[in-house]
Amino acid sequence: MRLSRFFLPTLKETPSEAQIASHRLMLRAGMIRQSASGIYTWLPLGWKVLQKIEQIVREEQDAAGAQELLMPTIQSADIWRESGRYDAYGKEMLRFTDRHDREMLYGPTNEELITQIFRDNVKSYRELPQILYHIQWKFRDEVRPRFGVMRGREFLMKDSYSFDIDFDGAKRSYEAMFNAYLRTFKRMGLTAIPMAADSGAIGGNLTHEFHVLAETGESGVFYDVAYEELAAKDAIDLEALSKLYAVTDEKHDPNSPDCPPADRLKVARGIEVGHIFYFGTKYSEAMGARVAGPDGNPVTVEMGSYGIGVSRLVGAIIEAYHDERGIKWPEAVAPFKVGLVNLKAGDAACDGVCEDVYAKLNAAGVEVLYDDRDERAGVKFADMDLIGLPWQLVAGPKGVAQGLVELKNRHTGEKQELSVEAALAKLV
Ligand code: ATP
Ligand code: MG
Ligand code: MG
Ligand code: MG
Repeated sequence: MRLSRFFLPTLKETPSEAQIASHRLMLRAGMIRQSASGIYTWLPLGWKVLQKIEQIVREEQDAAGAQELLMPTIQSADIWRESGRYDAYGKEMLRFTDRHDREMLYGPTNEELITQIFRDNVKSYRELPQILYHIQWKFRDEVRPRFGVMRGREFLMKDSYSFDIDFDGAKRSYEAMFNAYLRTFKRMGLTAIPMAADSGAIGGNLTHEFHVLAETGESGVFYDVAYEELAAKDAIDLEALSKLYAVTDEKHDPNSPDCPPADRLKVARGIEVGHIFYFGTKYSEAMGARVAGPDGNPVTVEMGSYGIGVSRLVGAIIEAYHDERGIKWPEAVAPFKVGLVNLKAGDAACDGVCEDVYAKLNAAGVEVLYDDRDERAGVKFADMDLIGLPWQLVAGPKGVAQGLVELKNRHTGEKQELSVEAALAKLV
C-alpha cells in the first residue's frame, strides 16, 4: 500500500476526550473515529488490526474443535422471554419494535439464540459434543462508555457455546476453551491471567475471567507472584497454573487458605479480555433443549459460554505496547509488517531503490506500507513511530548513493545500516 493513496487521517494534537494511551493513540493513528457515544467507525488501519486479531481468535477456536457460524445482530424478544432474561437484563439491552410492532433487540450476547438453534436441530446424544461460535457485533447500552473501544456500546465479540450430554463432557469442553484462550492471547503478545471468578464451587458454576495487566484496567485483581515466572515461559504449564491463586476483587478473600502471604500476593489492575463460563442447564432447562440419551430417555444438555472481547483487545494490546511516540505493534497483529520510508520522494535514486524494495516485498507477500509522500523527513518519522509498524526501512539520498538503507526495529529502537539485499533478507 502506498501512503499517498492510503486513507490514514493521523492527528498531531492529542484529542482532549481521550483519557488513556490506547484511546489517544487509536484516534491519533487514524484507526478509529467516534460516530456516537461508544460507537466507532473502524478506519482502514484500525480495521486491518481488528481483522488480524479476529483471525487469530478464529484459528485457535477452530484448532480447539469449535465450529464457526454467524448469528444475526438483531434478535426477537420472544426467546429472551423464554429464558426469563428479557425483563432481568435491564437498560443495557437496546430494545425496539419493527413495523408490525414485534419486539426486537440488538443482541448483547447469544445464549438464547444458540439454544434455540440447538434445540430445533439436534435430537440425539450421538451428535454431541458440539461447540459453536461466531464473531459478531454486540450492543450493550453501557452506563459509562469510555476509553474508546475498551468499553464501547457497539463492540465485536467472539462468543462460543458448548453442548454436552453430562458434566464430565462439559468440563472437557471448558478445558478445551481454557487452553485455546491461553494460546490465543499469547499469540498476540499478551499475558492474560485466568482469574477464578467463582472459586471452589465443584459441580456448580465454573468460571474464569482472563485479564491483561494494565494500570488503566477497570478491574482489581490479586494473584500469586509465581504466576509471572510461569507466564514468562514459552510452554504453558496448565497443571501448575491452575494451582496458583489468581482472583478478581469480588472473589478475593485474604483469609482464604489458598491466598498467599502478603509478600507473595500481587495487587494489580486488569483488563477483562475474555470470560468463560460453565452454567449447566440454566438455558437448556428453561428453553427445552433436550436430546435422546443412550437409553432413549430425554436428557437436558449441559452448556457453557465463552467470550472474547475482540475489539477491546485492540485497545488492550496498545496499552501493553506503546511509548511516548506511538504504538509498537507485536508482529502477529501489526497492520503492516514494514514501513518503507522514502526520505526524498522525487529523487530518481531514492525512488528507484524504494520502488524496487516495494515490489520485492509485495512479491514475497510481506505487508508493506510505502511512505512515498512528498513530506519532510520529520513528519514521516513521526507518522511511522505513531502507527507503530514493527520494522521501518528508510532510504535517503546519502545512503542510497552508497547502496545502503537503514533498518529500524520499532520495539527496541535499534538501527542498522545495510545493503538493500541484506535488509530484504531480514524481512522476507
Ligand atoms: P465488563 O466486566 O468489562 O463489563 P462483561 O463481564 O460484562 O465485561 P462478558 O459478558 O463477560 O462482559 O462478555 C465477554 C467479553 O466481551 C468480555 O470479557 C470483554 O472482553 C468483552 N466486552 C464486554 N463488554 C464490552 C464493551 N462494552 N466493550 C468492549 N468489549 C466488551
Ligand atoms: Mg459488562
Ligand atoms: Mg466483567
Ligand atoms: Mg465477563
